[in-house]
Amino acid sequence: MDNELVGGVFRNVVNVHTLSPEQDRRIGDRTLSDVYCNSCGNLLGVKFIEVANDDEAVRAGYFLLRRKKLKKWNGQEIVD
Ligand SMILES: [Zn+2]
Repeated sequence: MDNELVGGVFRNVVNVHTLSPEQDRRIGDRTLSDVYCNSCGNLLGVKFIEVANDDEAVRAGYFLLRRKKLKKWNGQEIVD
């Protein structure tokens, strides 16, 4: 996996948005959607749309965000 993507896994993130479902990406048995900052539009990471195996650390609806892209975090939300 791209090292830049190693960051934090979040269950809830605010001030972000994803693109339309047509632009979701399939990687292995996961479906991902890119996540963008609402205020500056930067690509922050991905949201897991579908995860085949529910026993994995990540589940559908979770976010994986690049740590260095986050200006502030408290474990639940981004304040940009
Ligand atoms: Zn931003």
